[in-house]
Amino acid sequence: AKQHGGNQVTFYEQGLQSEVEQRLWLEHDLLQAIGTPHLTLYIQPQFGHDGRVTGGELLARWTHPTRGPVSPALFIPVAEETGLISLLGSWSLQFACDALATLREEDETYPLSLNVSPRQLMEPQFVETVRDTLASKNIPGNRLIFEVTEGVLIQDMQAVARRMQALALLGIRFSIDDFGTGYSNLAYLKRLPLYELKIDKSLVQDIPGDSDSLAIVQLILAMADQLNLRVVAEGVETEAQSRFLFEHDCHAQQGYLLARPMPLKAWVDMIRA
Ligand code: C2E
Ligand code: CA
Ligand code: CA
Ligand code: CA
Repeated sequence: AKQHGGNQVTFYEQGLQSEVEQRLWLEHDLLQAIGTPHLTLYIQPQFGHDGRVTGGELLARWTHPTRGPVSPALFIPVAEETGLISLLGSWSLQFACDALATLREEDETYPLSLNVSPRQLMEPQFVETVRDTLASKNIPGNRLIFEVTEGVLIQDMQAVARRMQALALLGIRFSIDDFGTGYSNLAYLKRLPLYELKIDKSLVQDIPGDSDSLAIVQLILAMADQLNLRVVAEGVETEAQSRFLFEHDCHAQQGYLLARPMPLKAWVDMIRA
């Protein structure tokens, strides 16, 4: 089968059915797909200055038996709305710990980044699920980085902070995903146990040409430096973007220029190369 790491042709783009119909099959078929080979996770490597892999982000890949590849941008929101996200979430947690357990035998220490949606993060059972899954594979929590979007922070800030603290006690590290696109209130940065900021690809794609994006990216890098946070840039597609980011002390990069999302095995081969 052809690799479909990036620009997947989605059913949505084919534009043949109403939104309601689409939602119905998405919800129904996604539930069917969980636990089958049709739904899997790819890993997109992240790279440091020296060109070596520093870790990777898990990205869901669904190949529908009749409709072909379905973009996560389409099915993740449906999973969020219907609550399927908790099933999907525990499955990906399991996948991540399984993957890390294979590495451990080879004495590797790379962390994996997981997208955790707001609803999933605030599930009553979530901390317990994380603790149990880590324990079942004997994986230390610091092998996982949870990517949460700024959107999670417009909820009950206190509850979110408490939840993150509880997970931080397990060793889990947190990254703010799509940073620079959301809310202007930055006060939360100090109040949360954060490890990393992930600069959104919409900003990355406009540098170094666009002066506004350039200013924002430089501001993020300076702020992260002050707050002692790691910065990862996503969506790096050109040499010019990559050079600018490394010259301005961005810690790691992720994007098609360096590597597309790939199956676990390919990622493992890459870190061992
Ligand atoms: P995201 O977390 O911002 O993930 C980055 C997206 O950018 C991914 O799209 C990735 O394939 C794509 N990308 C990577 N490098 C480049 C590049 O150089 N150029 C461009 N144009 N794009 C690049 P993908 O895989 O379609 O995922 C879309 C979104 O769906 C993700 O955005 C994330 O929010 C969500 N998502 C994906 N998998 C999961 C999952 O397992 N769980 C949850 N909760 N959300 C997921
Ligand atoms: Ca992400
Ligand atoms: Ca992102
Ligand atoms: Ca993004």
